[in-house]
Amino acid sequence: MIKNTPSYNDYKEVAIECLIQSFYNISEIDNHLTSRTPREKLWEYNQIVLRTSIVLIHQGIEGLMKAEICQKSPLLLLNNKRSEWNSLPNSADQDFSELYTIAGEDLLKTFYACINEKSINPNFLGLYEEIRTKRNKIIHGLGAEKLNPDTILKYILNSFTYLLGKDSFWQSVLIKFYKHPGFEHDDDQVDWEEKIQYNKIEYLNFFLGKAELNKHFSVDIKARAYLCPYCTENGELYTNSGVNRPTSKWAFLHPNKPNSKVVACIVCQAEYEVIREDCTQENCKGNVKYLLQKGDEDEPNIWVCLTCWNEEDKKICG
Ligand SMILES: [Zn+2]
Ligand SMILES: [Zn+2]
Repeated sequence: MIKNTPSYNDYKEVAIECLIQSFYNISEIDNHLTSRTPREKLWEYNQIVLRTSIVLIHQGIEGLMKAEICQKSPLLLLNNKRSEWNSLPNSADQDFSELYTIAGEDLLKTFYACINEKSINPNFLGLYEEIRTKRNKIIHGLGAEKLNPDTILKYILNSFTYLLGKDSFWQSVLIKFYKHPGFEHDDDQVDWEEKIQYNKIEYLNFFLGKAELNKHFSVDIKARAYLCPYCTENGELYTNSGVNRPTSKWAFLHPNKPNSKVVACIVCQAEYEVIREDCTQENCKGNVKYLLQKGDEDEPNIWVCLTCWNEEDKKICG
């Protein structure tokens, strides 16, 4: 018998680790950007990080293809001839990890034989070939091609979206983060955690733009965006002028309809009930308000406009 055959999840988890790690490696370098260090120079110096990212992305993509093949049978991944399998009665067991598995063209063809081709984005084949060619050059010591960080970031996002669907990149970033052993559920830590997530989406938006990012979320992030009641209330951004509330908007009406009474935030992944009422601030066209602080009989309620964060005292019932 062939023992210890891998499962869908075994391959998937390792594949996601590879893809997320390559994202972290790139964002980590960009975090060192300053006004005196042009990004181009920074990346000329750090080309090795982009080359190792390509190797990781390639491993990630192949892992996700192997995961899918495992849904049919992990034995389809074996490269050894069947006449070499120790599978007859009375023959010694073989461990899956000691056998050779398929790669490259064989893997690609087996993958497409196992899936409904329509379930995979038609651009996947082109992406895989591009990464495979670049990765082979790097592995064989021909890594002279200059790589661009934004292209590699797009490779990572596309790998997730083509193979695991929209939202899978962001979900994986969140899951990976909250599994961190340093994460503890005391209040200080939570603030810190949300801020880190907030920075990650801002980072991607800054370099790739909303139109590109929008391809990877099921929510239309090009729709009118609102301040998140939680992230804006609790977020603290340290700037030269002191501590400011974050001003960028990652909450959206859910569903995106004129009379919707819920906003959902991508960063903290929570939904908030809102009312639809025009903001009293002169230059604000917002009409989505959140009950920030519920007053009692003597104290007014405090409603906040999720477009301009104008706070209003009001004694109203609903
Ligand atoms: Zn939020
Ligand atoms: Zn307003």
